[in-house]
Amino acid sequence: MPPAAGATMLSRHLFTRRHVVKGGATAVAAATAVSSSARAPTVDDHQPMITGVVFEDRSGSGMRQPDDPGIAGVLVSNGRDVVRTDSGGRYTLPVDDETIIFAIKPAGYSMPVDQSVMLPRFYYIHQPRGTPEHLRLRERGIEPTGPLPGSVDFALKKAHEPHRFDVMLFTDPHADSAAAIDYIRTDVVNALVGTKAAFGMTLGDLMSDDLSFCCRYNRVIGRIGIPWYNISGNHDLNFEAPDRKYSRETFKRIFGPDYYAFEYGGALFLMLDNVDYLGNGRYQGRFGERQLAFVSEVLRETPANRLVIAAMHIPLRTYLDPHDPTLNTSDGSELLKILGSRPAVSFSGHTHTTEHYYLGHDSRDAQNLPHHHHVLTALSGSWWSGPFDHRGVAVADSPDGNPNGFHVLSIDGNRYTTRFHSAKESERRQVRIVLGCEPHGERTTIDSDFHMGMFFGSPIPQDMVCATDVIVNVFDGGPRTTVEYRIDGFKSVRMKPGRRTDPFVREVFARNAATKKPWAKAELCSHIWTARLPADLKVGTHCIMVRVVDEYGREHHDRLCLEVIGRRAARTTMHG
Ligand SMILES: [Zn+2]
Repeated sequence: MPPAAGATMLSRHLFTRRHVVKGGATAVAAATAVSSSARAPTVDDHQPMITGVVFEDRSGSGMRQPDDPGIAGVLVSNGRDVVRTDSGGRYTLPVDDETIIFAIKPAGYSMPVDQSVMLPRFYYIHQPRGTPEHLRLRERGIEPTGPLPGSVDFALKKAHEPHRFDVMLFTDPHADSAAAIDYIRTDVVNALVGTKAAFGMTLGDLMSDDLSFCCRYNRVIGRIGIPWYNISGNHDLNFEAPDRKYSRETFKRIFGPDYYAFEYGGALFLMLDNVDYLGNGRYQGRFGERQLAFVSEVLRETPANRLVIAAMHIPLRTYLDPHDPTLNTSDGSELLKILGSRPAVSFSGHTHTTEHYYLGHDSRDAQNLPHHHHVLTALSGSWWSGPFDHRGVAVADSPDGNPNGFHVLSIDGNRYTTRFHSAKESERRQVRIVLGCEPHGERTTIDSDFHMGMFFGSPIPQDMVCATDVIVNVFDGGPRTTVEYRIDGFKSVRMKPGRRTDPFVREVFARNAATKKPWAKAELCSHIWTARLPADLKVGTHCIMVRVVDEYGREHHDRLCLEVIGRRAARTTMHG
């Protein structure tokens, strides 16, 4: 079980435990004087210190050899303080008995990756007593790590990192069963094996409370073949913990620190944890002061023109309920203040809806552009709700109508774009067009006279045309998206955005209650556009052409053939 080997494997292969210091406090504190060039953390005389070297692993052994030079200027952190290695590659940091020390990978270097699961190994867990036994965690936590090593060293290799690169963005895979891991493999992983993306990340809810699926899940994701970074969601926790402190023991054992950072190319990635566990299964969206201090320290050491990408599980904000503490981040504005006017974008998941925000800054600094916060589509869509397609994979359309899928972040210097990829449709399918007519409002029961083809252009009588809407769900649309449609000889019609449920997914959920997760329901969609058909549309077969311009100025096109017939059929209402 490769990930389970976590801390033990790390100490064996990636770190050299040289000169285990007895009574380490004084012995190592002496090293502080020659340590980091960055601001030294304030410590009292009795604070234990940890020291080590970040070195260039020329031999590839993971263990420092005589010819392996130290690397100067690398950031190393204990989760609060951030220091730079000195000219010999050495750092010194204060620790307590539950600290994870990690290196912040600098651009132009690669970190060791556990090849069986493609998880980066950039940390050392110092928890001499391990996870407290009295917590009786259902899933194994951290084994006792022994005394503080004399030197915790981090291996890096030189690597070519272009300034233009792609990153795969996953969120909410919700591997809640063996079948769900089958879906992830068949629906997503197979097509991505051999991708040219530099690395990938998953923004939490890898699991669905049962952490025992984690090993198989990691092995499947690992087959994509690129380093994969993870943060935990509210379904990846040790719920037996009384509060936040011990709620990530299993996650840490497998993945390392709950929040961290690394550089790639010209960009800085902040992998943040805003699931503040309150005990008894409850949680709220909050970073907390210690984590925000860490972010401040990292940014203090980061050039102001560098693109910053912040990843988290719970959105900074969601329209679903802006006042629900489990769906929004209470100290999100503090993060925005720290980011200031830097070029930055942030990503989250959690809500299983796709959303875009351009958030203002509390400082009201005219220099500050709105901050783009992007809530990503869940990989599991509707938590892998059915029906099942011909491969036996859950169709899993999201509550806001998006197909389940993921996003690709493309970075070029300090600029970025994102692109949505449906797991089941070709990359070119960025919208779904349906026809709707709701003379009696939204239905809540299945109408046996209705069939799904009516959404997609089945013959409608001419006298119903004036009451029929064209409804376009732009899967990754937001406030900066524009949508228009044109039909045959008519002029283009600018379509109106509006929050409503997607009638297509409402119908899918209503028709497939037996294979639907009981909590899945159609939610208001923030990326749906509507316009009426022209009332004088003649009898005949027509083609509705939809043109979308997304926030990055890219055009997307789709079409729908529509048949208009002369007389009212026996079936007279369509459903939207
Ligand atoms: Zn979640």
